[in-house]
Amino acid sequence: MTELPLVEQRPAISDVAQEELAAWLVARGEPVYRASQVLGGVHRPAAACFADLTDLPATLRTALDGGFRYSTIVTSHVLEADGGLTAKAVHQLHDGQRIESVLMRTPSRRRHAARTTICISSQAGCAVGCPFCATGQAGFGRQLTAGEIVDQVLHWHRTPWLALGPDWRPDARDGHYNIVFMGMGEPLNNVEPVFAAVRLLNDPDRLGVGARHITVSTSGVVPGVERMIEELPQVNLAISLHAAQDQLRDELVPINRKWPIAEVVAAGRRFADATRRRVSLEYVMIAELNDTPELAARLAGLASGWLSHVNLIPLNPTPGSRWTGSAPTRIRAFRDALRGAGVPVTVRDTRGREIEAACGQLHAQLAGRRLPEPATKATTEPVAVGVA
Ligand code: SAH
Ligand code: SF4
Repeated sequence: MTELPLVEQRPAISDVAQEELAAWLVARGEPVYRASQVLGGVHRPAAACFADLTDLPATLRTALDGGFRYSTIVTSHVLEADGGLTAKAVHQLHDGQRIESVLMRTPSRRRHAARTTICISSQAGCAVGCPFCATGQAGFGRQLTAGEIVDQVLHWHRTPWLALGPDWRPDARDGHYNIVFMGMGEPLNNVEPVFAAVRLLNDPDRLGVGARHITVSTSGVVPGVERMIEELPQVNLAISLHAAQDQLRDELVPINRKWPIAEVVAAGRRFADATRRRVSLEYVMIAELNDTPELAARLAGLASGWLSHVNLIPLNPTPGSRWTGSAPTRIRAFRDALRGAGVPVTVRDTRGREIEAACGQLHAQLAGRRLPEPATKATTEPVAVGVA
């Protein structure tokens, strides 16, 4: 496998506080305003290295390169699927941890405009331990920093995927895309860096992604939801419910033992009431386990009477999984039961199955000996692709 240098002494510029950078600059005889100029430049998509920050003096660019890493991540693999509509990247961190991000393009269809969604990780691994999730099975590595989160989005800005493709409009470059925290990790178990990253992504002097285009998905960390109400009321909330009955949810989403369904749904409801924003209830459909008519009726009860929306996701089974995804007829019956009860519901297609695009699956493959012989085309530069 392609090995990348792991020992890196220089701090990453995207994780250096503005005051710290200002002190570093002043010590080199630079004016203090350079700090915001440098940080604004680093979070500008077009600039891929310090040398690209051409509004800075050349000597300063060289000094910055000696003092700091430009990016917190090195992208080691990019795999493409769905005819180029889905691409998944594996990013290596300075200490050898690996995380993933995925870009999904949806071409325009009838009344729906084309859109792009970038799915990013908030932690290396995850401690929640949902048994159907590859990340959960792999366990917890460490928290990501705000820079490591933002750099995943910047990675896609520097590839052709964000701007090109069939039926795609180049305005994605201006920030008209969605960001979802649905990659590896539980974002509300890493609140400070995740909230800091949202603010950086949102900053009009940087990428300027509207808060309404950002979604935080949680397995149900109730205090984290409360903090979102207080601190990020413009950001969308998705709750991974997956079961409408506590005994089953204790097994599928083990954090349920701490915050059971009633508390999680109540927190979602408080979020919806306080923000007037519709909360998405995610429900992974597992054959013969959580897809029964009884559970559909219970779920309808939980989702009714407040601003919620149910998103049904067929399980993408992890290697060796004891479960499979529900059959399409079961999913349709489940959806119709919810609809009949007046609950807004959609069925999400599982994108990128052929590149293991669900949460943490490619990472799990990499932790083993080698990548599967992919039915995928690896196409981008400057990344090293595939395995040696
Ligand atoms: N930890 C957060 C966000 C990351 S997981 C959360 O759980 O919400 C993002 C979504 O992917 C969650 O809804 C999760 O349940 C779902 N997911 C994980 N593994 C999956 C799989 N094998 N098939 C389908 N969806 C999966
Ligand atoms: Fe963690 Fe989410 Fe995977 Fe559960 S589904 S293990 S919370 S990443």
